[in-house]
Amino acid sequence: AKALGKNQYHFFSDEMNNSVQNHFELENRLRRAIADNELQLYYQPKIDIVNGDTVGFEALLRWHNAEHGDISPSIFIPIAEKSGLIVSIGEWVIDQACKQAKQWLDAGFPAHISVNLSARQFLHTGKPNKLFELIESSLNRYQLPAEYLEVEITENLMMHHLNESFAILEKLKNIGVKIFIDDFGTGYSSLSYIKKFPIHALKIDKSFIDDLVNDENDAAIVTAIIAMAKQLKLEVVVEGVETEEQLAFFRDNDYAVTVQGYYFCAPLPAKEIRYIYQ
Ligand code: C2E
Ligand code: CA
Ligand code: CA
Ligand code: CA
Repeated sequence: AKALGKNQYHFFSDEMNNSVQNHFELENRLRRAIADNELQLYYQPKIDIVNGDTVGFEALLRWHNAEHGDISPSIFIPIAEKSGLIVSIGEWVIDQACKQAKQWLDAGFPAHISVNLSARQFLHTGKPNKLFELIESSLNRYQLPAEYLEVEITENLMMHHLNESFAILEKLKNIGVKIFIDDFGTGYSSLSYIKKFPIHALKIDKSFIDDLVNDENDAAIVTAIIAMAKQLKLEVVVEGVETEEQLAFFRDNDYAVTVQGYYFCAPLPAKEIRYIYQ
């Protein structure tokens, strides 16, 4: 048992060293990723299932490093958030999304683009409105009407940073930037913020959709969210729809939702989106 314990110790110790080293290695690479042109935005369509129209796109970060290959956002976003790099990366994302929306608009393809925002982006000490100014200046830089930019934030962000975020979100709403609640249902359960905040839509998290067809509880939760949203005059976006059966749940129940998922389209580089809609 002693020998086993020792081996286990070595095993875990090496694993931990590797993952700590790997973390710092990735963090250092990420620090240079913008300058080295390694980041790219992909765009995933959101489709209105009532009329089949593409009503917008979500911008999703992709990172390709020559040595490490493609690194998943689920790996590098947490590193970016912990290190604070998400502030400059997030700034780049907002800028690129505005630039892209303007290009599409000028090409006769008016497309709303939503960007994901992390809590860190709301929390510049001493400069609580930096995020608002940054968004406003990107809109101005490209002469993009504000309605074409949307932001996705999580429930947790609002619950934890109520004061910082409220003022910024109010100002964004006032200039015409729509606010989406991301991963809805997975965060803290207090719903009071829904009526306090200037929210446009709820995005039902993929975890409720995965087993929707077989799991009565998931179906009940999704139905309840849609009913609540309707009463509150909020739109609903459904994340992670992959199959015909999942889509049928919404069509058969006459739920007027917007759907985002591999069933319709995976996230794609902008030039491939152009190709689809040309
Ligand atoms: P999210 O905001 O919940 O984004 C939806 C995720 O689900 C994306 O993963 C998307 O590619 C994926 N997805 C969409 N439809 C399907 C489907 O039908 N099946 C499956 N299996 N997956 C689907 P992705 O691109 O890997 O991003 C993961 C997370 O990373 C995002 O989750 C978001 O929280 C974060 N993220 C991505 N880009 C950014 C960014 O620019 N800024 C910040 N702060 N976070 C970002
Ligand atoms: Ca999102
Ligand atoms: Ca998210
Ligand atoms: Ca999600």
